[in-house]
Parts: sequence; structure tokens; C-alpha cells
Amino acid sequence: MPDCIFCKIINKETPSKIIYENDLVIAILDAFPSSLGHTLIIPKKHFVNIYDVEEEYLVEIIKVAKKLSLAYKEVWGIDNLQLIHNAGQDAQQKVFHFHLHLIPRKAGDGINLAHAQVDVSEEKKMAFWEKLRKANFS
Ligand SMILES: [Zn+2]
Repeated sequence: MPDCIFCKIINKETPSKIIYENDLVIAILDAFPSSLGHTLIIPKKHFVNIYDVEEEYLVEIIKVAKKLSLAYKEVWGIDNLQLIHNAGQDAQQKVFHFHLHLIPRKAGDGINLAHAQVDVSEEKKMAFWEKLRKANFS
């Protein structure tokens, strides 16, 4: 995609701090980090988000997340982190090329990325669950 910042990074048209790279995936330091070491794991093929990413790439992205998590622990002693994927504008996706955030965390870092809690009625939960538990997940 010509105007995609991540495609430009993958093609080395835009500089970035590459942490790891293989045939399918690239991992870079986020230019606007939520914490020191905030990393983006990005498929080398352009997908928008979870809705269209091919499984081969998705599997590799998770494998790389595990690999980096262990490396960050060994090298920097980072043993807390969050993995976050924002899919869609209403879910605060900013760059529309699939990416998984790996955000190192530590006690007292003052960051709050915890899930918000909202009141959802039992009736709505039941309706949601009833419809989905009968869905075909093939
Ligand atoms: Zn792209």
C-alpha cells in the first residue's frame, strides 16, 4: 500500500528501530511509546487488522511476541507486559496495517491500559452469549 507507513518501514523507505525481522514479520520500537521498549510486531504483507490477516502471518506474529518477551526478560529483566491489538477506528486503531503492541510494564510505571468496566445488564449478557454459543466457528 503506497501511503502506508508500515509498508514503507517494511520496504526500508522509512527508517525505524528494527528489533527483529524474518520472512513474514518485522518488529520495531514504537516511535510514540507507551513505555520504554514498546514494540510493534507487524506482518510484512499489508493486512488491515484481525479481520483480514492471514493465519500464517498471525501465527508468526504470536510466535515472535513470545520470542521477544523472553528476550526482553533475559536482556532487560522485563517480566510484565501487555499484548494489545486495536482493530478498527472505534477500537482506537491508528495505523490501518495490522500490528500487535508489546508493551513492557513494571510496578509503579503509572500507565493504565487496563480494561474499562461498564455496566452491562444480565439480559444483554445472556442474549450475547446465547447467540454466540450457537455460532459456527469453523
Ligand atoms: Zn501496509
